[in-house]
Amino acid sequence: MSNAFNLGKLFGIQFRLHYTWFIIFILVTVSLVAPDWSSPLYWVMGIVTSLLFFASILAHELAHSLVGRANNIPIKSITLFIFGGVAQMTREARSAGAELKMAAAGPVCSLVIAGLFYVVWSFTQDLVTPVADMFFWLFIINVALAVFNLIPGFPLDGGRVFRSILWKVTGNYKRSTRIATRVGQGTGYLFILGGILIIFLQPFGLSWFNGLWLAFIGWFLGNAASASYRQVQWRGALRGFTASQAMTSDCPVVPLSITVSQLVQGYILSSGRDCFLVADEDEVRGVLTLHNIKSVSQSSWGVTQVKEIMTPIDRLKTAYPGQDALSILEQMDESSINQMAVVSEGRIIGLITHDNLIRLLRTRSELGIR
Ligand SMILES: [Zn+2]
Repeated sequence: MSNAFNLGKLFGIQFRLHYTWFIIFILVTVSLVAPDWSSPLYWVMGIVTSLLFFASILAHELAHSLVGRANNIPIKSITLFIFGGVAQMTREARSAGAELKMAAAGPVCSLVIAGLFYVVWSFTQDLVTPVADMFFWLFIINVALAVFNLIPGFPLDGGRVFRSILWKVTGNYKRSTRIATRVGQGTGYLFILGGILIIFLQPFGLSWFNGLWLAFIGWFLGNAASASYRQVQWRGALRGFTASQAMTSDCPVVPLSITVSQLVQGYILSSGRDCFLVADEDEVRGVLTLHNIKSVSQSSWGVTQVKEIMTPIDRLKTAYPGQDALSILEQMDESSINQMAVVSEGRIIGLITHDNLIRLLRTRSELGIR
C-alpha cells in the first residue's frame, strides 16, 4: 500500500502508517472534545483516547502477526490505515488450522482489550465522568473492531476464518477462497445498498453522512475482496512451475572490467540478452540483470564498470532447478530481492528474476490457462 510512512520495527515487523489514519485520529479526537471545547481536560482525554485507540489496533494486528509467525507464516510489514490494519504476508497459510488460528487471533485480542476497558470503566464510572467516558468509548470501539473484522467476507478476518473452515471441510483451498470472496463481495454490495437507502430515506434518525460512510466501507470491502482473490489466483498459477521452467538460461559470461555502456552496446542491444554472469577469468564473481543497470543513471554508464553494479556472488540467493516457482516468488518478496540464481551441481545454470515470474503468469492468463 502506498502513501504510508514507516513508523519503525516491533518484533522484527515493519510498521507503516497510512495517511488516512490521520483523518481517523482527527475525527476521533474532535468528536471526544466536542462536549466542551474550552476544557483542557477534554482535549487531553481526546488525544489520549485516540492514542489508546491506535494502540488497540496495533495490538490487534500484532496478535495476528505473532500467531502467524508461530505457525510459520512470516509477516513482513503491517500498514495501519483508516479501517484498521493490513498485514503484508509473504506467503499464504499452508494449512487450514494455521489460517484459522492466525485470523481469529486479531478479533480475540480486540475482545480481550474491550473486556479490560470494561473492567476499568466499571471501577471509574462513579468517580470521574470524562475519564470513565473515555474507557467506555474504548470498550465500545474495541467490540466494534472485533465485530467488523468478523464479517465473514474475505479478506477480513472473519472471511479468513470462514475460508479456513470451508478449506478444512472440503479440502479444496481454491474453491473455499472463491466462496469466501463471493461472500466478501456480496457483503460489500449490501453495505453500499444500505448506505444508499440511508442517504435517501434517513431511517432511525440516521443522517446522509452515516449512509455515505456505510457505502464507502462497502465499496472498500468489495474492492479488497476482488483484489485479494486476484492475488490468490496469481500465486496459485505459479504452483506446479519449477525454477528451471521460469528461469533465463545460457546467460553470457562478461568480464569484470567492461563498462555498463560497453555491456549495453555490445551485448544487450545487439543480442537482446538480459542476464549476465560477471566473471574474472573462469570464476563467476557476480550476476547482472537489467534491474542492476537501471540502478545507475544513463549519464554514468560510460564510467561505471559492471563489477560495481553486479550482484556479488556471496549476496546472491540461490534456487535449485526443481524448486517450486511460487516458493521462489515468496522468497524474493521476503528478502526484497529481484533475482535469484538457479544452481545445479555448484554451477549457475540460469537466472530467475521477478519479471520472469510475472511474465510467466501473464502468458498463462493470456492463453486462458487456469
Ligand atoms: Zn484483523
